[in-house]
Amino acid sequence: MFLQTILSNKKLLTACVLAVVITICAIVVPIAVVNSYDDAPAPKKFTGREVLDEVPLIDGHNDLPFSIYLVERNLINRFNLDSNLKEHPVWSAVNSSHTDLPRLRQGKLGAQFWVAYIRCADTQYKDAVARTLEQIDVTKRIIKKYPNDFKYADSADGIMEAFWEKKLASLIAVEGGHSIDSRLAVLRLFYELGVRYMTLTHSCNTPWADASPIDEVTPVPSQLNNLSAWGRHVIWEMNRLGMMIDISHVSYGVMRDVLQHSRAPVIFSHSSAHTVFEHHRNVQDDILSELGRKRGIVMVNFYPLFVGGNTIDDVIKHLNHIRTITGVDHIGLGGDYNGVSVTPEGLEDVSKYPDLFDMLANGVLRTGETFDPWTRDDLQKLAGLNLLRVFREVERIRDGLVDEEPFEDLIPYEEFERANVADQPCMSDMDMHKN
Ligand SMILES: [Zn+2]
Repeated sequence: MFLQTILSNKKLLTACVLAVVITICAIVVPIAVVNSYDDAPAPKKFTGREVLDEVPLIDGHNDLPFSIYLVERNLINRFNLDSNLKEHPVWSAVNSSHTDLPRLRQGKLGAQFWVAYIRCADTQYKDAVARTLEQIDVTKRIIKKYPNDFKYADSADGIMEAFWEKKLASLIAVEGGHSIDSRLAVLRLFYELGVRYMTLTHSCNTPWADASPIDEVTPVPSQLNNLSAWGRHVIWEMNRLGMMIDISHVSYGVMRDVLQHSRAPVIFSHSSAHTVFEHHRNVQDDILSELGRKRGIVMVNFYPLFVGGNTIDDVIKHLNHIRTITGVDHIGLGGDYNGVSVTPEGLEDVSKYPDLFDMLANGVLRTGETFDPWTRDDLQKLAGLNLLRVFREVERIRDGLVDEEPFEDLIPYEEFERANVADQPCMSDMDMHKN
């Protein structure tokens, strides 16, 4: 009877249905909400190392080729890079051995600039070119020997291709302008061999660019060249070729001159911040600001003698300082592994980068001191996106200069005189430079 009354009265029926729906909602929805809170996984905590699966971690500077020269005389069949070299009878005794394939995998490296380096004190004006060619050769041979892990790259696209294939993009760099023997022809041929950045000096001055130790000399030496007139041609030729200009190791004056004259953004492949630790190998704040304005990048060096401390915390202080000066778009990492005899606690070898990324994401030093955490975007830029941006811009500028003729000028004899090296004995064509 009651049901019939309801069914016959449309208004009453609607009201009842609504009442039932509201009652059900009032009971079910809160339960569902409570349940959804119970069931949902806790919001996923962002860990810095995840970033290294998203973008390639590109390190600017590793001296493994020089270690292979020192330890094995470039004979690469005498050791297995795909083994723990810490247990190798010879390599384990070498205090600058920080790199092997197991540790590179652990370190989640996506790309590495392998450095063709030879000591300037031994080789400048002697066999620098031939010795550099040997280091380029050994680098190519080692890349080829481990094709499942290494993939040769000479472009920004090449880095990404290797990354998608889960291989380590392997690029070649030359550390020290002494390696071109003051000849643009050699520079051009290095590019053809795959060299994608050249550090303008190592610790020795070249006739056309001063090295950083000169900044410590007092009174200021009279033969200070900064970047010479011919040195500007080196810069312009590098721009034309599409070779990145590395101003780690050069003097303050050369940094300033290169930033003024380069037509493309430049890099510091392995340098830290002078304000955090005063060392001539570190970069002054005004240079950092200018570098940012010119869209370049400073890839931070981990070497305790440059960092001014021997822990991962000390490295982070440099990263944080540079971030405040240049902004986050102009920082990268250039660990200098295998090029140094000591490394910081926490960044002992190439396996440790993920720990650094975790700490930067957390914003806490080992001492407990806190800092502004690095966001996922920040860490992607630090890992590789900044270097890729610079590399692409260098390539774009190269493409825009395709109609420019190569520079042909020989270095003038006066520049050898000014650098006090005109009497150096090992150039057979010195007279050609006199007119
Ligand atoms: Zn170096």
